[in-house]
Amino acid sequence: MDLFLVTYLGEPKGSSGEEYGTPYDLSAACAICGTGARVEHALKVKGVKNIKRNVFQTLDGDWLISENFYQLFSKNNVLVHGLKQVVHYKSRHQLPYYHLDADQCLPKCKETKGLVVEGQCQTCKRNGFFNDVIIGDLDKGIPTKIQPIELGYKNLNHSFLNESDFLCTWEHLGLSCRKPDGNSVVRYARPFLVVSDLARTLMEEGGIEDLKFEPLVILGG
Ligand SMILES: [Zn+2]
Repeated sequence: MDLFLVTYLGEPKGSSGEEYGTPYDLSAACAICGTGARVEHALKVKGVKNIKRNVFQTLDGDWLISENFYQLFSKNNVLVHGLKQVVHYKSRHQLPYYHLDADQCLPKCKETKGLVVEGQCQTCKRNGFFNDVIIGDLDKGIPTKIQPIELGYKNLNHSFLNESDFLCTWEHLGLSCRKPDGNSVVRYARPFLVVSDLARTLMEEGGIEDLKFEPLVILGG
């Protein structure tokens, strides 16, 4: 069964998470940096309104899907356990968007391509991954290009796919800060999103923009 890493190439919509009073469960998180924190209850969001996209990311890197896609996934027996309706950070009213928070986690990659590592926590080594980009030149009309990503796994056990069509990676994008210090604020790095072939097909048929799917690589030997 094929699995695909999903990258959002569009403009982020709205913001979410730590800054807006979202509660996090830190029981499985790194004691030093907080990577691995999980949203408890519902993700709180700001500025997520009238967004004409079925799948997008907020400025804080959380994945949201539309009510349409929620219905589409439900109808097609797509397994998503971590799909919870988001709430407005002030009014706490539920909004017609769902937080795609995969609760099945892949093992650590054997090798990665197209990522750079910076500012990584030396205790867990799970955060600090960034997309490798070739910076463009706006004046010359050359866009910044995100390098292709290859996540390589060995002996990947597919049995967890019986439980979910959405997975998260062991590796996390960006930096984490569990205890604010000086100018830093509390922030937990987000994992990469990985989807099954079924989820990918439904997303493509259902209408998406600015999404890139890259197959995970199963290493031989
Ligand atoms: Zn850590």
